Amino acid sequence: MIYLDNAATTYPKPQSVRRALGSAAMYSANPGRSGHSLAMKAGENIYSCRVKAAEMFGAKSPENVIFTPGCTYSCNMVIKGLLKSGDHVVVSDMEHNAVMRPLKAMTQRGVTYTAARVASDNDETISNFREALRSSTRLVICTHVSNVWGIRLPVERLAALCRQYGILFMTDAAQSAGVFEINASESGFDFVCIPAHKGLYGTMGTGLLIVSDPQLLSTIIEGGTGSGSISLSQPDFPPDKFESGTPNYPGICALSAGLDFVKTTGIGRIHSKEISLLSELYDRLSANRNVILYTKRPDIRSCGGVMSFNVGDLGSEQCAEYLSKRGIAVRAGLHCAPLAHEHFRTEKRGAVRIAPSYFTNFNEIVTLSRVIAGM
Ligand code: PLP
Repeated sequence: MIYLDNAATTYPKPQSVRRALGSAAMYSANPGRSGHSLAMKAGENIYSCRVKAAEMFGAKSPENVIFTPGCTYSCNMVIKGLLKSGDHVVVSDMEHNAVMRPLKAMTQRGVTYTAARVASDNDETISNFREALRSSTRLVICTHVSNVWGIRLPVERLAALCRQYGILFMTDAAQSAGVFEINASESGFDFVCIPAHKGLYGTMGTGLLIVSDPQLLSTIIEGGTGSGSISLSQPDFPPDKFESGTPNYPGICALSAGLDFVKTTGIGRIHSKEISLLSELYDRLSANRNVILYTKRPDIRSCGGVMSFNVGDLGSEQCAEYLSKRGIAVRAGLHCAPLAHEHFRTEKRGAVRIAPSYFTNFNEIVTLSRVIAGM
């Protein structure tokens, strides 16, 4: 199979990740719950992953790294743990439903929001966000890279704008973690939401929340942490405050190996490889008059490893089915991001999304463009 659905989850995983997953599933005890050696070893492995993640994403300390069941969960922790009735939020018009649905749910509790239009020019995007701010704006949320169009958004500049007005800033790094350098502390990101299973090459059901000040958030779930068990109140110190219940130990071990893989391979190298494959595809598709491209040629400065298109007047699902029958895996439809599709007026037919990974090769891109040429 030619797998080009890496924006959904990366496949294949590096061998080191598969090994770490298998060994954690086979040889482990519950971390932080008991004092015997197997449990202690598991606790050490979790801490080691926390340290690696803190380093990679510029968290203030390992305790500012929270393990979660995924990026969606991380987004919910911020939106539901922070916002109160009367708060206003500004989001981009490229957000995933991992942001939009919890935010919409919070409108039932008196939260309001405004979607700011992402422009092709970053200055204009910043000015659209600035105009959307109100005196009640508590939080600005902007995805780092659009999961449909691959466009990189000016999150560092938006964070600086927020700092000027004393507003908190969250970025959804689902499509950028492992592809762009992220330093939460230097960039002034208050919250960074990250899945383990995409550009970090970990497994599904694991994620991270990097938080600048853990006291900003209330908990959205409570439970056993293995610490302070005499008290019926949730611990108020991180990470225990936010990590109730037995953690996804195999997922965290896989993430730890994934972080090593990304670090040793090099974020820049992974990104360049994906962009060179996408720009090759873009050139080939541009020469095909039947293909509709919506965005500019992918480049390293302003794009992540995702692009989308349509073919003639075919529905995107039909096109994906045609490719699937020929052994090519892509994702069609709306990609859980209806606003991003409204932006380019593709909300009716969706679009066909191509997302390579570090393991995709040039010949696979050539084959894809040839199959599309034959449609
Ligand atoms: N945000 C964006 C931009 C995404 O692309 C995705 C998943 O595709 C998510 C959030 C949700 O990630 P997860 O399904 O790992 O929770």
